[in-house]
Amino acid sequence: MNLILLGPPGAGKGTQAKMLIDRFGIPQISTGDMLRAAVAAGTELGLKAKACMDSGALVPDEVVIGIVGERLAQADCDKGFILDGFPRTVAQADALKQTLGQLGKSLDAVISLEVDTEALVERLTGRRTCRACGQGFHVRFDPPAKEGVCDACGGELYQRDDDREETIRKRLDVYQEQTSPLIEYYQQEGLLAAIDGMQDISVVQEDILATLREAR
Ligand code: ADP
Ligand code: AMP
Repeated sequence: MNLILLGPPGAGKGTQAKMLIDRFGIPQISTGDMLRAAVAAGTELGLKAKACMDSGALVPDEVVIGIVGERLAQADCDKGFILDGFPRTVAQADALKQTLGQLGKSLDAVISLEVDTEALVERLTGRRTCRACGQGFHVRFDPPAKEGVCDACGGELYQRDDDREETIRKRLDVYQEQTSPLIEYYQQEGLLAAIDGMQDISVVQEDILATLREAR
């Protein structure tokens, strides 16, 4: 199952991807997670990406296209993959098509999660992420059993620097301008399935699974 989860920041891509990994045994490829890991490790990639990420802008296309191309060629993607946060521009979508063609792969579905803007702001301001395993929580909608502690691994929960209101608004504008054209792009490819992302986490998951059953 080769899948893209498309949607604005806070739509629930990471939350749903984590549930799909368990069910299908295929990896989540989150460019945001990869870039944050590079920033934390202080690599050359991290240094290139940090200023863009802090301001809520996108990292240059050639940087993310390169890391996704390398990742998709790894053996654990042979059974499938879940792209989360990539592609985010038409140039990235074109590059993905080319890379998959070279690898003899193709996409099965693009799931577009639809969520109202004010709900996105509320989700992102309340998002907490595990520093150790990356599991996501929400202070109100998906709280951990013990405040500040990851249910999955006991790691420390933190608030991402870019999950503050000014940066959130900028990221949502960037999504509208640069990423939302991909809805039309994948509609034309006959791959898009729109899902109501305003529903409860478990209901969204059920809708995704029903869509994937049809796509296969
Ligand atoms: P994305 O990966 O699309 O940026 P996340 O999966 O990290 O979004 O979700 C953003 C925040 O919203 C998280 O705190 C998550 O717990 C919460 N969340 C995700 N899906 C839902 C939902 N269906 N209803 C309410 N809160 C949600
Ligand atoms: P995310 O974790 O998906 O919300 O991404 C966090 C930040 O990483 C974004 O605001 C961008 O600065 C950067 N980023 C993640 N994925 C991409 C991408 N596909 N293209 C460009 N920048 C990205």
